[in-house]
Amino acid sequence: MAAPSFESTYAALPERFHAQIAPTPVAAPRLLRLNADLAASLGLDADWLASRDGVAMLAGNALPDTVRPLAMAYAGHQFGNFTPQLGDGRAILLGERIGTDGHRFDVQLKGAGRTPFSRAGDGRAAIGPVLREYIVSEAMAALGIPTTRALAAVASGEEVHRETPLPGGILTRVARGHLRVGTFEFFASRGDVEGVQTLVDYAIDRLHPEAKGAEVPALALFECVVRAHAALVPMWLGVGFIHGVMNTDNTTISGETIDYGPCAFLDTYHPGQVFSSIDRNGRYAYGRQPGIAAWNLARFAETLLPLLGGTQEEQIAAAQSALDLFEPAFQENWQDVLRRKLGLAERGEASLALATDLLDLMVEQRADFTRTFRALGACAAASDEETTAAASSAGFADPSAFTAWAVRWRARIAEEGQAREAVRAAVLGTNPARIPRNHRIEEAIVAAQADDLRPFEDLVEGLAQPFDDDPRFADLEQAPAPDEVVRQTFCGT
Ligand code: AMP
Ligand code: MG
Repeated sequence: MAAPSFESTYAALPERFHAQIAPTPVAAPRLLRLNADLAASLGLDADWLASRDGVAMLAGNALPDTVRPLAMAYAGHQFGNFTPQLGDGRAILLGERIGTDGHRFDVQLKGAGRTPFSRAGDGRAAIGPVLREYIVSEAMAALGIPTTRALAAVASGEEVHRETPLPGGILTRVARGHLRVGTFEFFASRGDVEGVQTLVDYAIDRLHPEAKGAEVPALALFECVVRAHAALVPMWLGVGFIHGVMNTDNTTISGETIDYGPCAFLDTYHPGQVFSSIDRNGRYAYGRQPGIAAWNLARFAETLLPLLGGTQEEQIAAAQSALDLFEPAFQENWQDVLRRKLGLAERGEASLALATDLLDLMVEQRADFTRTFRALGACAAASDEETTAAASSAGFADPSAFTAWAVRWRARIAEEGQAREAVRAAVLGTNPARIPRNHRIEEAIVAAQADDLRPFEDLVEGLAQPFDDDPRFADLEQAPAPDEVVRQTFCGT
C-alpha cells in the first residue's frame, strides 16, 4: 500500500492566491469514519487511508511527498457586510485528485490548525460540527444535490475550547472546487484585475469548460454560475434544506453546496423558517434563499465588470442581463421540482396551482414537509379513508383538508392519462423517506461526544438510500416528538 499522490494546480497559481502552510499535528488521531465509496471514486485506497499512515494524513500529522498544503485566500460578504480578508482560517488544501469520472477534485482538511487567515480563530473544529457536516453533506449527495463531500472524520485527541471544552475533530472535505464568490471578491476589492482574470481562466478550465472560447469568457463563466445556482437552490427547497449562512464566501463557483454550519432541514413547513442562532433577522430563511442567491451572484458580477469589455455602462448592462437569467431559470427549475414532487407529467398552470395549494395547506396545517410529500406515494392509488390516514401521519391538524386536495390531485393525474401506479413509483423516487432531521443529528452528536458512534453510524447508513422504504430505519422517518423539536442550530466554529 503506497501513499496516494496529489496534484496541485492551485498551488501553481501566483503566491497571492494562497498561503503555503502545513497542518499542525494533533495529539492522538483516531479515525471515526471513512467514506470507502468516495475514496474509490477518487482512486484512493481505503485500506491505506484507514492505516496508520492514512490516518496520519487525514489528521494532518504526516503528509505524502506530493502534497503542497495551502490555505486559500478569499474575502466575502457576511450577512450583507463586506470583509476584505477571510480565507481558509482552519482548512488546508492537500491537493487534487482526478476522480474515476474524469473530474478534478480538491481534497481538503477542515480543522487542521491555524493559517495566516485564522484571525482570532484557533484553526480547529469540534467533533460535533465535523460529524454534522459529514452527515448532512453525504445525505445531500445521496439526495442527488450538488455538494461537497465528506471523505473522512478523525478525532484529534485534543480539546477545542468553545463555550465549553469539546473533543476536537478534522473533516476531510472533497469538492469539485473550493473557489467561492468571495475568492473573486478578494482580488476585485484590491483592484487586482489580473488576479480576477487568472481566476476566471482557472474556473473556466476546471469547472465550466462550456464557457471556453466564448467571446467574453468572464461573462460566459458568470452565466454558467448563474445557471448552476438557479438549479441548486430549487433542489434545496425541494428537500426542505436551509443553508443558514449563505454568505458570498460560502457560495461556490462550482455550484456545489458548501459549508454546513448551522444548516437545518424543515420539519413542519414554513417559508419563513430560520434555525441559525446567528441569523437574527431571518436573512437566510428557507423562502429567502433564491433572493439571496441572486444577491450573491450580483456581488460576483461586480468582480467581473472590468473583464466584460466596453464602457462601464456596457459592462453593467451585460452583467445585468446575465443576472436577469437567474429569476426565470430559478422559476422554471423550482416549478419542475414541485411538479416532479407531485408526480405530474405536464408543466404549466394546473401543476403549479396544485403545488402551491398544497404548500399553503401545509403552512396552515403545520404539516411535516418530508412526510407530506412522501405520503403522496401511499395516496396515489388510495381511497379517501387511506388518504386521510396518511395526512394525519404527516401531521395535518385537519386531515380532511388534505383529502380534498388529493381528490383534485388524482383528478389531474387522470387528466394527464397517467397510471396511478406509475405516479406512485415516481413520487417515491422523488420524495425521500428520510432526511437528516435536526433532532437525529443532535442525538448522534451528543452520543459521539460521549464516545458512542452507533447513532452517527446508523444515521449515515440510513440516509445513504433515502428513497427506499427500509423498516430498519423507520425511526429516521418520524417527525420529532414535541419535546424533540430542535428550534435553533449553531455554527459551532
Ligand atoms: P464559516 O463561518 O465557516 O464560513 O467561516 C468564516 C470564516 O471564519 C472563514 O474565513 C473561516 O476560515 C474562519 N473560521 C471559522 N472558524 C474558524 C476557526 N476555528 N479558526 C480559524 N478560522 C475560522
Ligand atoms: Mg465558510
